[in-house]
Amino acid sequence: KGSDGKYMVTLIEGDGIGPEISQSVKDIFTAADVPIKWESVDVTPRLIDGKTSIPQEAIDSVTRNSVALKGPLATPIGKGHVSLNLTLRRTFNLFANVRPCKSIAGYKTPYNNVDLSLIRENTEGEYSGIEHVVVDGVVQSIKLITRAASERVLRFAFQYAQDIGKPKVRAVHKATIMKMSDGLFLSIAREVSKDFPNVEFDAELLDNACLKIVSDPTPYNDKVLVMPNLYGDILSDMCAGLIGGLGLTPSGNIGDECSIFEAVHGSAPDIAGKGLANPTALLLSSIMMLQHMGVTQHADRIREAIFKTLAEGRTITGDLGGKAKTAEYAEAVIKNL
Ligand code: NAD
Repeated sequence: KGSDGKYMVTLIEGDGIGPEISQSVKDIFTAADVPIKWESVDVTPRLIDGKTSIPQEAIDSVTRNSVALKGPLATPIGKGHVSLNLTLRRTFNLFANVRPCKSIAGYKTPYNNVDLSLIRENTEGEYSGIEHVVVDGVVQSIKLITRAASERVLRFAFQYAQDIGKPKVRAVHKATIMKMSDGLFLSIAREVSKDFPNVEFDAELLDNACLKIVSDPTPYNDKVLVMPNLYGDILSDMCAGLIGGLGLTPSGNIGDECSIFEAVHGSAPDIAGKGLANPTALLLSSIMMLQHMGVTQHADRIREAIFKTLAEGRTITGDLGGKAKTAEYAEAVIKNL
């Protein structure tokens, strides 16, 4: 927090629709008088010593400010391209990916009372990036599970469950098949649960959880679900589908030193530059960010304005069945502040 009472926050606008949806967040924050100054940084990879990496200025900015809002980053398909999203998670050790999925009034989906909380381990598991060819036609990909990373995300999940008033944690796993790796995750979950006597703990197989959640998500509303990386990636997108899709779902990547908040969706190259994108997911991510920073009054005010605008249904974007442009939707949110 600076001497002017404002917090400096790093803004990574991102690719594709990133700059358009970031503009909506900036406009709405200005209108709501949020005590934040944005420090915009470019994360276009640079070639340093034969390796591509994130520009040092961007790393310094996130380290200095400890909080960042990030638009989507496109990962070019092809050999030798490292996902920048993965690089950011690794660089800042953002070990927990928090994904709330809450129904939005006015946007009709098969279930109107979804309120799920998912936490995904964000640094290892199937996404460790350890892959190699054994012999031609045989490829091995290593799923890495460590006590350190598992314990860290599980402790976070129990603490989070307590903090948000959902004192039930369920570990989602496949320890029946992945006996050692998921078995370790599950046994650490049991150990950690002993340190949180006020939080109920149980576990469920991933396939069963998928079946039950799409059949009726409501019994899961009172729990925090925590799981290894790949399961969390898939399950949280599935849950995003239950509330209306990727245009609406926020997330937070939490680390000990820094946290980066971002929409779940990608850079949407099919609609980029046309003013058609729905900025709600990034906006809701920015609200998670404000809550994380303790700027809760502004967060509540903006969130209510978003939900009011969506419930009115007059000025909504194409993905939700409306005709509004990104900027028109942002203007409607500002009117509802
Ligand atoms: P995507 O999420 O960009 O798009 C999927 C579909 O959803 C598209 O039809 C798109 O138009 C629509 N969509 C997404 N966000 C929207 C929004 N806010 N408003 C309206 N419609 C929206 O997924 P993709 O096409 O598979 O990926 C495109 C690029 O984004 C890839 O390079 C991928 O690597 C990258 N990506 C980045 C992130 C991230 O930065 N966290 C996440 C996922 C994908």
